[in-house]
Amino acid sequence: MAIQLFVPTFDVEACLSEIRECLEKGWPGMGFKTLAFEEEWKKYTGHKNAYFLNSATAGLNLAFDILKENNNWADNDEVITTPLTFISTNHAIALAGLKPVFADVDEYLCLDPESVKKMITKKTKAIIFVGLGGNTGRYEEIKKICKDNGLKLILDAAHMSGTRLNGKFPGLDADVAVYSFQAVKNLPTADSGMICFADEKLDKEARVKAWLGINKDTYARTSAGGNYKWKYDVEYIGNKYHGNSIMAAIGLVQLRHLEEDNEYRRKIAAQYRAGFAKCDKIKTVPIPEGCLNSQHLFQIIVDDRDGLLAFLNENDIYPGVHYIENTQYRMYDYAKGTCPKATYVSDHVLSLPLHMRLTEADVNLVIEKVLEYVQK
Ligand SMILES: *Cc1c(COP(=O)(O)O)cnc(C)c1O
Repeated sequence: MAIQLFVPTFDVEACLSEIRECLEKGWPGMGFKTLAFEEEWKKYTGHKNAYFLNSATAGLNLAFDILKENNNWADNDEVITTPLTFISTNHAIALAGLKPVFADVDEYLCLDPESVKKMITKKTKAIIFVGLGGNTGRYEEIKKICKDNGLKLILDAAHMSGTRLNGKFPGLDADVAVYSFQAVKNLPTADSGMICFADEKLDKEARVKAWLGINKDTYARTSAGGNYKWKYDVEYIGNKYHGNSIMAAIGLVQLRHLEEDNEYRRKIAAQYRAGFAKCDKIKTVPIPEGCLNSQHLFQIIVDDRDGLLAFLNENDIYPGVHYIENTQYRMYDYAKGTCPKATYVSDHVLSLPLHMRLTEADVNLVIEKVLEYVQK
């Protein structure tokens, strides 16, 4: 049977019963389960604020829009970012009228603080850190650079549901952290995300902007007694970014499984690591001291990545690539060639299958086939 990169696994009966509640109550939209999920997420992570959205992309877009407005950033002010990420990260910067400035990555495949420092100019306003695959990389050093230079810190925590750094959720130290609960992330729904601002005022603004700039949400209006649905004000140009109760229902259930799921991911990762330990043709990504990795990805770096990919596909094994460096895309090719380590990784990295349905035998088969190819 084929071994896929990602297969989300749901606690189906429990999800259906949470969804049934929404349908029976006649409340599938915003409010009800979305508020319940926000509360559970705050309890789990320690975030003071959490707002449930229809995706992490929406969250990143909101984050830059709101930070720009509240800090009086100008168009073309700069945000230092990584080329090794899903395109949402960098589109969010550009969509807000800001400029993505690319710094290189380090052996953790996350932003390299030394490279970041070189990219700071008078126009730099913020740094966005992507915890690639759940890794915390040199996040502490990036935090310090932000502090020393008066820069805002945004954490793209799309891969980091469950990641701890020294026992704590790294997002707690950022101005804003954005999580993804897209179908193949560690806490799968179908599509949704969470935005967690440190500042409560910005959380409130996000709630308004994520619903077209309307200043009272439906739930607050109908539960306030009166039924004046048309009596609202519009304070901003907003978008429709808020989440719904069906997704939140799935999120509530899957959150209960996140710790054990991540434990299983770490077990698979340990098996891969042990399997490749004696092979100097395969490089794995180190995990820094103090990092409990959510292990969203297990990545290896090999000489002939494309050949290995083709060979694994012939053997019914389907890995992935995270990511092609964004500076190779036309949108961001003004920075092409400026991040040599990211370019190398982009050409040589491979993400091996990693999900709840993999057995020990599956993982051994993947290890065996990878070794067979690289040792040929
Ligand atoms: C998945 C992902 C996103 C976007 O998440 P969605 O919920 O699908 O919008 C953003 N950044 C990274 C690094 C991702 O992997």
